[in-house]
Amino acid sequence: MIVTSARCLALNASFEPLTLVPVRRALRLVIDGKAVIVEAEEGRFVHSSHLTVPRPTVIRLAKFVHVPRKFRRQVTNTFLFARDHYSCQYCGRSGDVLRTREYLTRDHLVPISRGGTNEWTNVLTACSTCNTRKGNRLTHECGMEPLSMPREPHFVHLAWAVRRLSPIQAKYIRLFYGAQTLAEIRRW
Ligand SMILES: [Zn+2]
Repeated sequence: MIVTSARCLALNASFEPLTLVPVRRALRLVIDGKAVIVEAEEGRFVHSSHLTVPRPTVIRLAKFVHVPRKFRRQVTNTFLFARDHYSCQYCGRSGDVLRTREYLTRDHLVPISRGGTNEWTNVLTACSTCNTRKGNRLTHECGMEPLSMPREPHFVHLAWAVRRLSPIQAKYIRLFYGAQTLAEIRRW
């Protein structure tokens, strides 16, 4: 069986997995000579006016692209909630058992208004009820200790946990980061 992936995995020239891009964009990069096809879907081709190209599932950039660390470390709610397994770090309830009108939010251990930052070690997932209850206070002031202290996760775990990879694409994550990382991603 051929597993069709809607998106194409783009590797850096160093083989580091970078991101998933739409197939159309991947083809553009290949046609412009900016990337080469590493893996393509068997028997599937994309036709343009004067060109027939295999439908890529993995491409590799011709030139190494430097990705700034700052960008990689950005804490978006998507990644934050994934790190905390989509559950409130105060009451422990998971996002799918919250009541209507409750939702997951970003809580700051040290509130922004009191000098807190948006770094991994200061943010955690909280349900809206707990977040409101904690308000502007420090944990010891309100007696609400988080179930676990927030830590900076391995970027790779997050980056790939929230994506749907085909087995072929997953192979390249394993090649670059090792089987253990892939296994950890799969557990999420
Ligand atoms: Zn809660």
